[in-house]
Amino acid sequence: MAKPKPEVTGRLIFENMSDHDLRAQQIDTNDPKSFSGIVDHPPDPTEDLRFVARYESNNSETCAYGHLHRRGFVLENSASARFLIGKDCAADHYGLQWSRLENDVKTAAKRRGDLLWLDRAVELLLSHEQQLKEIANSPAVAAVDDLRRQIHTIPGPLLQYFQGGSDERGKMLSATYRVEDPLKQRKLIEATGDELDKAVQDGASPAVISEIRKRLQAARVTKQYTFVSRGVLRRPASNLFVQSRPLRDRLAEAVGSSLAQMNNVKVLDISGRRIDLVSKSVKEAAERIDRLLSECNEAEELFLPNVLEGLATLFDGEEFKAYNMRRIAEGFSIAYQGETIMVTRPQTLAAEDFRLSPLLKESSGL
Ligand SMILES: [Zn+2]
Repeated sequence: MAKPKPEVTGRLIFENMSDHDLRAQQIDTNDPKSFSGIVDHPPDPTEDLRFVARYESNNSETCAYGHLHRRGFVLENSASARFLIGKDCAADHYGLQWSRLENDVKTAAKRRGDLLWLDRAVELLLSHEQQLKEIANSPAVAAVDDLRRQIHTIPGPLLQYFQGGSDERGKMLSATYRVEDPLKQRKLIEATGDELDKAVQDGASPAVISEIRKRLQAARVTKQYTFVSRGVLRRPASNLFVQSRPLRDRLAEAVGSSLAQMNNVKVLDISGRRIDLVSKSVKEAAERIDRLLSECNEAEELFLPNVLEGLATLFDGEEFKAYNMRRIAEGFSIAYQGETIMVTRPQTLAAEDFRLSPLLKESSGL
């Protein structure tokens, strides 16, 4: 960084703005010549200059010192004369003062962008309040709660099994199956054959030899089995099993508290607060609601043909011998200890595709 030339005694001034003023202040321009009062001579090195705008134009602009630059600042003296100061030669003339000004402007521009995003995001979420309340009271959400109630009537040990763990392994439902084991059978035949040979060599009694022959014959015609554990299907609709409170209530609560939070952000003076943290909490509020909305789509999974098929396979497992699971029209039944419970697809069960997060992402591109 070049040192300020000794003759420059004027200061570069960036006036700190309140959030309110910052919102209204256009910091960046791509048309610096559009500002009024631009003069074509250098500023007096002794005069203070106030920041007006930062520019980045498509064409190179001639700066107050007569060079061409695409990037620089518009600065103003106390007599309202304005100067285009190109990025490189300003650093040359003003040295450290210039880098300080650049940093101040960068910080302000960032905060302004964040404030405008936050304003849009808050408005966007608030504008969907009615829609979200309608969804909470919709037949689709009522259907999820109906289904959740049905699910919670399945026998306790089964319910716990389906609630499972939240780790990676727990994402799969697995069971133990009895399968043919030809290798095990061959080894048994071989071992019994060896035993017979040895008995003959050792001159064992006919009764002993006859008994071994019988076992060998049995080994040849009797299939051997082994037990294997197999992952059968991904845990479907886990919220139906895990959640003990109605989706309608949870959704209404989340909408209520999130929108109250939005109203707070709107009316609170957030100056001095880290805006990234406020923005993060807005994004998280949207995600929280989206996760709840996705429970409608998740509940539908339970009745996909491949999921019902997977459940039937699962119930063939050794662990589930006590339960008799059957596919019925629009669902399945489980018989256990003389009682049969049925889980059927509620008529109004439907996907809910409205989500807030994608809207927030779109709004940030404006
Ligand atoms: Zn220049």
